[in-house]
Amino acid sequence: MTQTMRAERFHAASGEVVVEDVPVPEPGPGEVLIEVAYCGICHSDLSLIDGIFPPQRDVVIQGHEASGVISKLGPGVKGWSVGDRVIPAAGRPCGECFECRRAKFTECLAVRLMAFAYDGAWAEFHVAQAAGLTRVPDNVSLQQAALLADAVSTPFGAVVRTGKVGIGEAIGVWGVGGVGTHVVQLARLVGAAPIIAIDLIEEVRERALELGADYAFDPGEDGLRDTLRELTGGRGLDVAFDVVGIPATFDQARKSLRTGGRLVGVGMSNQRIDIGTTSAFGLSRAQILGHLGYQNEDIGTLASLLSRGRLDLSRSVSAILPLEEVREGIRRLHEHDGNPIRILIQPGKGE
Ligand SMILES: [Zn+2]
Ligand SMILES: [Zn+2]
Repeated sequence: MTQTMRAERFHAASGEVVVEDVPVPEPGPGEVLIEVAYCGICHSDLSLIDGIFPPQRDVVIQGHEASGVISKLGPGVKGWSVGDRVIPAAGRPCGECFECRRAKFTECLAVRLMAFAYDGAWAEFHVAQAAGLTRVPDNVSLQQAALLADAVSTPFGAVVRTGKVGIGEAIGVWGVGGVGTHVVQLARLVGAAPIIAIDLIEEVRERALELGADYAFDPGEDGLRDTLRELTGGRGLDVAFDVVGIPATFDQARKSLRTGGRLVGVGMSNQRIDIGTTSAFGLSRAQILGHLGYQNEDIGTLASLLSRGRLDLSRSVSAILPLEEVREGIRRLHEHDGNPIRILIQPGKGE
């Protein structure tokens, strides 16, 4: 095996993103070495570079939405073999907190996040814990598999776990880019109707209609609130997803709810939100729900849905770039160049 590998690393002190030679990591007890096939570029990766998220390490390999093939087993690893196609978990339980001490690792209060607390997968190789790996079904491509470790699983968590969207419920999705697109697809899968997409960009609205939205509107359209009521028999939305996370979208989404409807906040920014007076809030009986992430088991559920043809993510890979061009991928996502759903980095031969 080569002793060094190419890897993107973010240097916190200088704020630089550098592709450089680093030692190939060695899997420790309970760990595996994965030859990375693909790894997505996520907005949270940009947030580390932009200083919105504080750095947890001086130097770290970025990228947390990966797929690949096991190339080496660490000591004591059972149930996995070299050559297995896998998705690494995007986080590791801390092993020390209240929940970890009682073996509820999925409820860990201090999850260490891949690509922030430890090295990620914009690199030829990545070391992952064997516990938490998801096997990729034979008929699922490693390109689509790479989407599952956040880009599709976070929307899954928002629709299924936080929003608890039921069959026949009327939903609205503010922002149908990389995350919102998958909210639309998963809401369709669980039987929501109607599904209404709201986005500033016409091309993005068209795509949402093609991927399962029943209607798509510009947020600045006159009388939008009345239109949404008309489309829901005068009631308003059962569930509104704010995937953008700025006051304008949060407010419009909240005001579109039916009495007792749920607002799911998925998008994040550093801007403050206002939900009006406590009396109006009480009268509205609105449920305002913050959302983050997903459960690791959701990745396996999504892999099964892909394998069985219930979910089609063929539109979600917008571009594949070699590792040496990771900065170009970052730029495209930053500038919404081409309105990408997901840009994948391919560090090696891919699949
Ligand atoms: Zn992500
Ligand atoms: Zn813990």
